[in-house]
Amino acid sequence: MNNTEIIHSIPVDPLTGSISVPIYQTSTFVQDAPGVHKGFDYARSNNPTRQVLENLAAKLENGHAGFAFASGLAAIDAVLKLLKSGDEIIAVDDIYGGAFRLFTHVYQKFGIDVTYVDSTNPENIAKNITAKTKLIWIESPTNPTLKISDIQSIASIAKSCGAWLCVDNTFATPVAQKPINLGADIVVHSATKYLGGHSDLISGLVITTNEILSEKIKFIQNASGGILAPFDSFLVIRGIETLGLRFQKHSENAQKIAEYLQTKTEVDHVYYPGLADHANHNVAKKQMKYFGGVISFDFKINDENVASEFIKNLRFFKLAESLGGVKSLCCLPSQMTHKSIPEATRIASGVSNSLIRLSVGLEEAEDLIHDLENAFLQLEFHNNQDKNPNRATIN
Ligand SMILES: *Cc1c(COP(=O)(O)O)cnc(C)c1O
Repeated sequence: MNNTEIIHSIPVDPLTGSISVPIYQTSTFVQDAPGVHKGFDYARSNNPTRQVLENLAAKLENGHAGFAFASGLAAIDAVLKLLKSGDEIIAVDDIYGGAFRLFTHVYQKFGIDVTYVDSTNPENIAKNITAKTKLIWIESPTNPTLKISDIQSIASIAKSCGAWLCVDNTFATPVAQKPINLGADIVVHSATKYLGGHSDLISGLVITTNEILSEKIKFIQNASGGILAPFDSFLVIRGIETLGLRFQKHSENAQKIAEYLQTKTEVDHVYYPGLADHANHNVAKKQMKYFGGVISFDFKINDENVASEFIKNLRFFKLAESLGGVKSLCCLPSQMTHKSIPEATRIASGVSNSLIRLSVGLEEAEDLIHDLENAFLQLEFHNNQDKNPNRATIN
């Protein structure tokens, strides 16, 4: 889908000609006779503003139907409700922390078991399939080390064992990657990130590929009720209007910054799928049009204090969780998003103590690089001061 198609998939209001999608701020709809109405009866079940977003989401991901939820986690929760006690899930090992919490601390007690594997090698999924495997869950790229899994290979494994493949496409967006075209059965999004794109809402989407799955998710959405409100639906639609432009610029900026970070002697490793030396760069190139706006890197002096000091010296990268907005953000996963994970497990998955995650925004790349350069210079200054026996005399 190119920008023209995205922009013109958002319909003009058929009732008034309004070029912007109206916000139908209502709870109910007046009926002509009992059960006779214009397709809307109660706003949990359906709302015209939400419906525009849901149709748009389905088109963007080339799916059969889309469903909008109050958060990314509510969307993930709806997919999990497809399962029943005794079913098993195989999931990517460095899964989004909130999804891990939901799988492990909510659904495991209902008898749904999860096996976590390194899905960058699809063999690890094939090896762990059992007769009970019902759902395979991957993210690509993952957070925060940007691991890439081969969606097409994993989809064929899922097909051969009759399990659903669900791809969390939050980091790639449908502009860069279309999991359904690669064989996925379900796609989820935290629309809080790139789709909304302005750090001003929380929202989630589920996109399904066939009528049976669509009916099931529609039923769950209405039965459990975690729907997206009309105003937030409007904001996500408005965000999607510029998604193509934004994601291209996020990706261009990130590529420049990743290449710049690779030149810094203080830096140990730069994680970005657009770099030729990324472990799965070839798979990324095959399945992604752009590589996105998230970069992680760590320091040779692998100490969270070095990373904290660095972050303190940044001006344009604001210290905050989340990603995908117009303003650049940075975070220290070991102390923030990944603090609850046991240290050994965290480090084994590549999230070292000094790892910084950047969400590269839409500022000018040169300004962002200048900001980073300045933080490196200040680090050096401090390091030299520490080593200087005459430090006390330096003013
Ligand atoms: C943020 C995020 C989620 C959760 O979405 P919320 O909108 O915060 O509920 C799920 N998956 C990924 C990859 C995310 O980055």
